[in-house]
Amino acid sequence: MPESCLFCRIVRGEIPASIVMQDEHCLAFRDINPQAPVHVLVIPREHVPTLNEASEPEILGRILLMAAAVAKEAGVAEAGYRTVINTNGAAGQTVFHVHAHVLGQRHLAWPPG
Ligand code: 5GP
Ligand code: ZN
Repeated sequence: MPESCLFCRIVRGEIPASIVMQDEHCLAFRDINPQAPVHVLVIPREHVPTLNEASEPEILGRILLMAAAVAKEAGVAEAGYRTVINTNGAAGQTVFHVHAHVLGQRHLAWPPG
């Protein structure tokens, strides 16, 4: 529910976040429990629970474009970084407001765990 959703609360400014980039459609902020020296979450301002419910190509495109812009600004674009969208339980999604993780500034193993 958007009223109680953690990331909707960050969008509304009710919970503090270390915001690194924003526009009228999306917000990017540092993960509270970083898994790499660069670990930023990119979210749409609009509440969409998971990738399964996403229906607007433009919003999905904007999330990825902001992820790339964040990587460039963080200085990891050339060396390499990973953009991840976890969907539902088996993938470990814990916050049900769709988001892309941007991870970088360390070697990232493949396949992921
Ligand atoms: P998921 O597991 O759903 O793919 O990712 C959720 C992410 O949100 C986790 O990496 C977690 O550390 C991060 N997170 C959870 N609560 C907060 C919070 O209150 N603030 C910030 N900045 N990140 C959070
Ligand atoms: Zn939400």
